[in-house]
Amino acid sequence: MKKHNFSAGPCILPQEVMKKAAEAVIDLNGSGLSLIEISHRSSAFVEIMETARSLALELLGLTEKGYTALFLQGGASTQFLAVAYNLLEKKAGYLNTGTWSLKAIKEARLFGDVVEVASSQEKNFNYIPKGYDIPKGLDYFHLTSNNTIFGTQLKEFPTVDCPLICDMSSDIFSRQLDFSKFDLIYAGAQKNMGPAGTTLVVVKDAILGKVSRKIPSMLDYKTHISKDSMFNTPPVFPVYVSMLTMQWLKDLGGISAIEETNEKKANLIYSEIDLNPVFSGFAAKEDRSNMNATFNITDDTLKETFDKNCKEAGINGLNGHRSVGGYRASMYNALSLESVGILVDIMSELERKG
Ligand SMILES: *Cc1c(COP(=O)(O)O)cnc(C)c1O
Repeated sequence: MKKHNFSAGPCILPQEVMKKAAEAVIDLNGSGLSLIEISHRSSAFVEIMETARSLALELLGLTEKGYTALFLQGGASTQFLAVAYNLLEKKAGYLNTGTWSLKAIKEARLFGDVVEVASSQEKNFNYIPKGYDIPKGLDYFHLTSNNTIFGTQLKEFPTVDCPLICDMSSDIFSRQLDFSKFDLIYAGAQKNMGPAGTTLVVVKDAILGKVSRKIPSMLDYKTHISKDSMFNTPPVFPVYVSMLTMQWLKDLGGISAIEETNEKKANLIYSEIDLNPVFSGFAAKEDRSNMNATFNITDDTLKETFDKNCKEAGINGLNGHRSVGGYRASMYNALSLESVGILVDIMSELERKG
């Protein structure tokens, strides 16, 4: 039976990418060797890494604009500290919009003063703070563009007079933005790009080299830039699959093309949540995420039927995160509009029966 995978991460990837990735594990491009047994210094792999790096910049519209794309290890969670290690001299500002922001703040506090510029914690992060003042003289300002757990998403980005850093783990490549507004973007691969095991970092070279502390080689962006993202053995499989996914996206027409589909998917589920009294949305309407829709069931007696109907339709990964409860439908790039339609049909059927 066809599955409809709404998992929050690791999550759905395009079927054709999965097939090509599986083939490459057996035999990379007819070479008679597996992707995962050849040297990362071989021309075959160097080409994969270079293609992945240039595709990332191309999709974001940042080619030849002073940025470098890196594929690193340690997840987005390592970037929480790497950002501060490389950029925090005295004081940094953070917008606290959820669990991931909090974790980034905790790591940054090891390196200097952290100003929590605004927070939505008092309402369990169900909205994005707005109208806050950003203090002067920050080493950088850090945002989380999409709050995977709570289902909120920044629709507008502030203009700042310091480097702007953004954790885009769960909405990278999902919508068109002026990416040149940002000085450093990072994203763990497993939400919208590839398997777990690599993290995309896109960094503007000019912001580096300004802190006085010594930085360990593995955590120093300059090390990885100078070695073309091959300072040590890179995660060859996640980089390859990320490359395939970016190629898939480019062939579809790039970010603006997928954004249209993502908007249709989000409109479909949110109009159902808004109209159907059996369900209530968690996040404030104007801040709702196009990637992760969080909602609750208003009548607990219908929960069992809903869960059963979802299971029978092949729907997977719909449980909400433990800190929010309820349900979360994650609708990353590779999830089809048809899959969202199937979920929405089950939701509306429940109203008719209930
Ligand atoms: C999942 C996620 C992370 C953590 O990523 P890891 O790769 O597991 O360290 C960080 N930020 C956001 C927004 C996420 O969704």
